[in-house]
Parts: sequence; C-alpha cells; structure tokens
Amino acid sequence: MKQNNKENLLPRRYTPPVGWKAVIGLEIHAQLLTNSKLFSPDPSHFIEMENEHIHPVSLGLPGTLPVLNQKALEYSAQVGLALNCHINRRSVFARKNYFYPDLPKGYQISQYEQPICENGYIEFEQEEKRKKVRIQRVHIEEDAGRFHHKGSCSLVNFNRAGVPLVEIVSMPDIHSPAEAAEMVRSIRKVLKYLDVCDGNLEEGSLRCDCNVSVQKTSDHQYGTRTELKNLNSFKFIEKAIEYEINRQILILKEGHKVLQETRLYDSTKNKTFPLRSKEEASDYRYFPDPDLLPLCLSDEWVAQQKRKIPESFLQKADRFQKQYELSSKESFLITEEKARADYFEKMVWAKASAKLSANWLINEVLAGLNEEKKNIRDCPIIPENLGEMLKMIEKKELSGKMGKKVFTEMWRTKKAPKQIVKKWGLKKIDDASILTNMATEVLKKFPKQVEDYKNGREKIFGFFVGEIMKSCRGQADPEQLNKILKEKLKN
Ligand code: ADP
Ligand code: MG
Repeated sequence: MKQNNKENLLPRRYTPPVGWKAVIGLEIHAQLLTNSKLFSPDPSHFIEMENEHIHPVSLGLPGTLPVLNQKALEYSAQVGLALNCHINRRSVFARKNYFYPDLPKGYQISQYEQPICENGYIEFEQEEKRKKVRIQRVHIEEDAGRFHHKGSCSLVNFNRAGVPLVEIVSMPDIHSPAEAAEMVRSIRKVLKYLDVCDGNLEEGSLRCDCNVSVQKTSDHQYGTRTELKNLNSFKFIEKAIEYEINRQILILKEGHKVLQETRLYDSTKNKTFPLRSKEEASDYRYFPDPDLLPLCLSDEWVAQQKRKIPESFLQKADRFQKQYELSSKESFLITEEKARADYFEKMVWAKASAKLSANWLINEVLAGLNEEKKNIRDCPIIPENLGEMLKMIEKKELSGKMGKKVFTEMWRTKKAPKQIVKKWGLKKIDDASILTNMATEVLKKFPKQVEDYKNGREKIFGFFVGEIMKSCRGQADPEQLNKILKEKLKN
C-alpha cells in the first residue's frame, strides 16, 4: 500500500511493552447458512417463537438417530479449501460429553481426533503488511440451545440446538490485538465470499474466542494462556486482548504465575474476569459417535467442492490494483464484499473506465446505500446502467454535474440513463456558436456586473456561469463555456 499522509492521523495501535511479546490464537465458530440443522430436518434459521419446530433429534429424545446434512458438509469443506487446508478423506464425529441445561443430549456432536480439514493458512493485509496465520484445523459441530435469563428465572430455547457450525482454530501466530481483529475480519470475509455464513458477530452467528499468553521476547517457550470467550465486536476483541496482555505482564512482573483459565470480558468496565478454570480435553471423555459412520470423502467430491471456491478477497484486491490500476485503498474497499466487487466489474464490462467506476461506486453508490442502510445487493441502480451513464460522461455527452442529476433519478426510478436523458431532453451543449450566443446574451443582460468584472472583481465570473447554467438546466459544457466567456469578457 502506498504511504498515505492520513494514516498518521489514525490512533496509535497498541503494542506490548518493550521486552515482551504477546501470543494469540483464535477459535472461531461460524453458523452455516443451511436451511435445516446438522443432523435433523428442523429449520436452522432464525425463528421468532421460542422452542418452535424442534425435531426429536434436536432434543436428543431416546431412539432418535442423527443423519448428516449434505449441505453443511459441503460448506465445511469449502471453508477448509478457502483456508488452504488439506481435506481429510476420512474424518470422524465424536461425542464431547458435558452437562449443561442447553444441551439436552448430555453431549455435543463434534469432531476431535480426525477433523475434516487441517493444516491451512489465511493471508491478509495488516497495516500495509502481508500477514499469514496458519490454520490448525476446521471441524464440524452442532450448536447448543440458548439461555434467556429473566429476573430470577432462566429459560432455555432449543431453536439453536443442532444448528451446524464450523469451528476454525488458528495456530498461535498472532501478536497484537489489532492483528487479531484483522484476522477475524478476514475470516469473516472468507465466509461471506463463500456465502456460507452471514458473519454477524453481534447476533452470534460468528463467535470468537481469543487465547492469549505473554512471554519475554528472549523466551523460547509459550507462556500460560487464558481464553477470552464470546467477544461480540471487533472493538471488544482488541480491547479485551489489550487488557489481558497488560494484566498477564503485570502478574509475571510481580513474580506470580498466570492461571490457565477461561475469562469473560466486561465491556462496561473494560476488564476481563475469570469464568472457570480451563477444562482439559480429557474432561470431555471424547469418543467416536456410534450413531454416525466415519465420514469418507472421494477425491472427486473434494475436487467438485474446490471448483465452487471463488477468487479470494486478497487475490481480487491484488488483481484490481494490477488490472484496473486502482489504488490499494480503493481495491480493498471495493473487494470488502464480493457483491461490491462484482458490481464494480459489471460497470467496467459495460465499458465505463475503471477509475471513474471506482470513484462513482465509492463516492455515490456506497454513500447512498450507507445512508439508506441498504446492502449493495439491494442497490436500486443496476451496475450495467451506471456503467452506461459513466460512458456518456466519458464521451462528453453528459457533464459530470448532469450525471449526478441523472444518477439521482436512476436511483429514484430505477430507469436506464438513456431513458432519463431522452425524457428530460438532456443533451450536452458543446456547439461553440450556441455557447457564444448564450454568453453574449448574459453579458448584455448584466452590464453592471460586466463593468465590475472589468474593474478587477474577477470573482464575479462564477455569477455569469451560474446564470447561463440556470437558463439551460446545466447542459452547457463547462470547459468550453468558461473559455468562451473569458474570451468575450476580454473584449
Ligand atoms: P484447547 O483444545 O484446549 O482449546 P488447543 O491446543 O486446541 O487447546 O488450542 C486452542 C487455541 O489456543 C488455538 O487457537 C491455539 O492457537 C491457541 N494457543 C495454544 N497455545 C497458546 C499459547 N501459549 N498462547 C496463546 N494461544 C495459544
Ligand atoms: Mg478449544
């Protein structure tokens, strides 16, 4: 990325004190956008009524048997492939045993020793540098139910029980709070590019646990880690990790030991608090689920999933810089969402110039969508129409100013630019003789102002332009008009 002066205005990012190093690894849970649950046919999307549509399998009633959701399997493999993982041709579902009222079976079906995906990595850009974080594994598991605490009573809603999740586990390759947040943003982008998760941190369809430890820079061994649970915004991820790093350094400086435990972040106090001591894998008594056969995947099936993986956001951002000569900032902004990038390319395919397309997309389309809280998928203007309009500007059939007016009308009516231009009788006036006539008229009409101008009040020039534009509804070609007016005023 090119150096940008504005960057200096950004708040300084937190780094651990000199002599200390932070080590961070992430566990990210993502709800998959399937219609039904992981092992049962009840709907897995948001349902208004509590405990509506709950299949006996979701409740773990005796005598029920799980059947794997094909779509969830495909999505999980696609996540693994997009994260450059190896897809194990044989993986195993295991029971993770623990008691909790939102887990009616007394165990969660997950994958333990043989997950579906292993040994991948993700690349992203962090403060103008490329960063690579290794992915340890991606496995499939089912979600638990959800608690509603009301006064002194706790109610449980099983609508979420059995919803398919992928758990993405990173290696501890992250070294700052900002890097951790960017990693989560990047994983979210990967999931959204694949269209397998809506990525909503706030509503919990994407959940992130952060494992944090600190060590002296001279140490060769990792320190003891704590796990920060359920951080539901990028800001909280950064704040909680920053707090935790400082807390651990203080403990070690005082000669004490960091306890391995699970902690919760309280955003109102900006502090983390212990929740429970960290459970070991052996506490869960994992064993292969006898109700489910090992999952065996063919090379052909894996190849089929691979063909469904779109170009990654990073490849796209790089390509946009090279192919369309966009700045790094523009290309990252445009590739933030796949639908945004597609919109941009459709404008270019409609023969609008890339630079102009990028400008209008960022300054007009995204700003307009932002104002109306709309997604680009619901943009009232289709990219082909906007591209067409930009082409008219480039051919000087429309001035930029008129273009803005046509844009507003396109947004309002969804009409094609040609239709609007025709209806309004818009045509750019670039005929020198017409423009000269217009200039003559205006100067004749305002002799006092002409005299002022000639006496040195050059600012009044804009007044003449404004009067002419008013009379022709902005259709005069501004460049030519300026030239002709200046020429006339000299005489
Ligand atoms: P568990 O299954 O008990 O949660 P794992 O070994 O699977 O433990 O690791 C879970 C997460 O913790 C991974 O994301 C990993 O990168 C991270 N992690 C492991 N050791 C450390 C450490 N010393 N400091 C920070 N993160 C760590
Ligand atoms: Mg874990």
